[in-house]
Amino acid sequence: MSIEIKAISKRFGPFQALNDINLDIRSGELLALLGPSGCGKTTLLRVIAGLETPDEGQILFHGEDATDTHVRERQVGFVFQHYALFRHMTVFENVAFGLRVRPKKTRPSEAAIKHKVHELLQLVQLDWLADRYPAQLSGGQRQRIALARALAVEPRVLLLDEPFGALDTKVRKELRRWLRRLHDEMHITSVFVTHDQEEALEVADRVVVMNKGRIEQSGTPEQVYDEPASPFVYQFLGDVNLFHSRVHEGWAEVGGTRFAAPDASDKAVIYVRPHEIELQREASDGALAGVISHVRLLGATVRLEVNVAQRDVVEVELTRERYQQGGWAAGQAVWLSPREARVYAG
Ligand code: ATP
Repeated sequence: MSIEIKAISKRFGPFQALNDINLDIRSGELLALLGPSGCGKTTLLRVIAGLETPDEGQILFHGEDATDTHVRERQVGFVFQHYALFRHMTVFENVAFGLRVRPKKTRPSEAAIKHKVHELLQLVQLDWLADRYPAQLSGGQRQRIALARALAVEPRVLLLDEPFGALDTKVRKELRRWLRRLHDEMHITSVFVTHDQEEALEVADRVVVMNKGRIEQSGTPEQVYDEPASPFVYQFLGDVNLFHSRVHEGWAEVGGTRFAAPDASDKAVIYVRPHEIELQREASDGALAGVISHVRLLGATVRLEVNVAQRDVVEVELTRERYQQGGWAAGQAVWLSPREARVYAG
């Protein structure tokens, strides 16, 4: 089912939580709402759900105005960060819950409920846990059960609010891939909230980057990563070093490398990702002199922190191989120059 969000605004007292949000969610799409804490992601999700009424704007479900439709009639399924499973019910009963509380007229028979619940438990690959209680499950298993429960009522839309936020990194990564596969099988229009850029880029068909109640950019993972619409998006999607530069005849310069500056600005900020910085042992034209202060191993890559005179620390990332070949170590004098950068008006 498609969802159209038209000029939605929402205030809490004087605070503007959502400011003129416009977004079309395509049928069957898996969309990530990405942004820092407090940017309005959860509020937007709650507006879609019908748990929050917007002050202005309109929301259409499948082309029909649903702005005033009650949450129960929107047929949305939810999964939240903190497992909302009923502790006194088995896994089976938790998943069956939404079907059992239906009005008598639409309630399936006991045999049909049993069939459906087992089908869903197989889908989330946890059929073998049907008789356990939530306390006897791992965090990752609980979230999968929560998802099975949300799917039981055959929602038209699935809304997930930081569904894996409370889990450790390894389980989170597994569940992300699993969610992607599940979505590919089911094609339910799904929106999930995350503040983790890696999660959004890896899982979603489209990423909506939010900041201070507004949409900064919406696009495929490649688009937002490779063609960030604003410095905010660029910074939010990965670590970055900032260098300030004056502009001379259309060029900004740092570490001996020149970059084309935006038109009509006399100052520029040069944004350089840690892996875009070249390290040398000897001084070269214009390169920034510094001293390696820390070395951090990140698995396949190594992060070096370099103290550069009269500015903050510069972060440099090398592959393990280049790090070893270079024989870099804390305390060494080095010279830095960026290979690539994005330049915005300063
Ligand atoms: P997080 O990642 O921390 O959950 P978020 O992007 O989901 O952040 P929201 O929960 O949408 O942010 O909140 C946006 C802003 O609106 C926050 O500053 C929050 O304090 C405020 N806010 C949310 N709900 C209410 C409310 N019921 N009353 C007053 N302010 C609220």
